[in-house]
Amino acid sequence: MNLPFQQKKTNYILFSKTVRSPKITWNGYKINRVKSFKYLGIHVDDLLNWLEHINKQGEKAIKMQQNLKRIAGGNWGISQIHIWTLYKTVIERMLAHGSSAWCLNPTFKMKRKLSSFQRPFLLHISGAYRTTPTAALQTIFGIPSLHMQLQFEARFTSIYRLRIPLPPFITDTQPHDLEMKATSWSTHPSEHLKPNQISFEDRETYIARKDIINIFTDGSKIEHGVGAAFCVLTNDIWACNIGNERADRLAKDATQYGQPSSHTKLPKPHIKGLLRKRILEEWKTLWKNGDTGRKIYNIMPSVSFRPTNWIREDVIFFSQHRPFPAYLKRFHLSDSDYCSCGGIGMALHYATECIYTASWDMRKPAPNFEQEWLKRVANTLVSRLKIHGIIKFISENRDLFRPP
Ligand SMILES: [Zn+2]
Repeated sequence: MNLPFQQKKTNYILFSKTVRSPKITWNGYKINRVKSFKYLGIHVDDLLNWLEHINKQGEKAIKMQQNLKRIAGGNWGISQIHIWTLYKTVIERMLAHGSSAWCLNPTFKMKRKLSSFQRPFLLHISGAYRTTPTAALQTIFGIPSLHMQLQFEARFTSIYRLRIPLPPFITDTQPHDLEMKATSWSTHPSEHLKPNQISFEDRETYIARKDIINIFTDGSKIEHGVGAAFCVLTNDIWACNIGNERADRLAKDATQYGQPSSHTKLPKPHIKGLLRKRILEEWKTLWKNGDTGRKIYNIMPSVSFRPTNWIREDVIFFSQHRPFPAYLKRFHLSDSDYCSCGGIGMALHYATECIYTASWDMRKPAPNFEQEWLKRVANTLVSRLKIHGIIKFISENRDLFRPP
């Protein structure tokens, strides 16, 4: 065998708990051992726990975000929804690379690591304080834990592309229930007919004839794709209209659902929707049983993939993190939880009691109805605009609120 071999470029990796490695030589050259290698953009480490890959991709994503931040100029110049979009389309995509290979069943360590990389981005989107709980930010911005998003994609790739069944607790749908994506023709099929294909003549004049069968064809192209359909009708005087309309409808269905109305297999959007629903359920359970972000949970018990229209001031007020004295005292950042007016410096105090913010004129809730009050305020735009004003005022006049 005459195989050229580059000893210098060759390394070996040992997937074993053994610390001592065997000595490997080839034609008298020593082959070095490595702890990890990169293949098709995925870092494979010798412990096979994927932490090396998450670390490398995460660092790359953070560097990317810093560069984007520099271009956008910190807090100004780029709106929240654009930062959100950048996260979804750039940062998340970087971390999602090859997730079907490594994130089908993430371990606890992997989940934690992924979360640590997602958190700075959530904070960047919110512009809120660093202490705001991750789970709350995820719900507010409609972004599930990173491991969930990647798991969703890994599951989809597994069943739809690799044709490997998923565990029954995720779905009973089997790979063979799903339609396959057809590969496209390189030439127009009518130009190079194979012996088993038939060429039709376009003869509108035959439509009225009762002794032949009419076949109607149509194609449809919309942004989601291209579809084609045909419709066979036995002769009838109305066949013309019905046939063309029917073929047109079927072709449109084909572009939208990947399948004309004669469903035999499930189309791609079906399985995607199903897996998305599963992730949403898992996220909802996690949010419900979580122990952080409870103040936000009481206002938003449900989760969704759509971001709420909350801005920085909403996040600060409703999560009740900073700059309120009661919060600062709780975290030993201040000795006093009093506002300079003499009241206890809680979020509610500033919205309804404090003499310095009285001009916003929000009515104080009856005791034991604070939760309802917060919920109502969160869902009323006029009230929220007042909250924005109050939080901005406090942030700009810190000294005014500091106890003497
Ligand atoms: Zn006050």
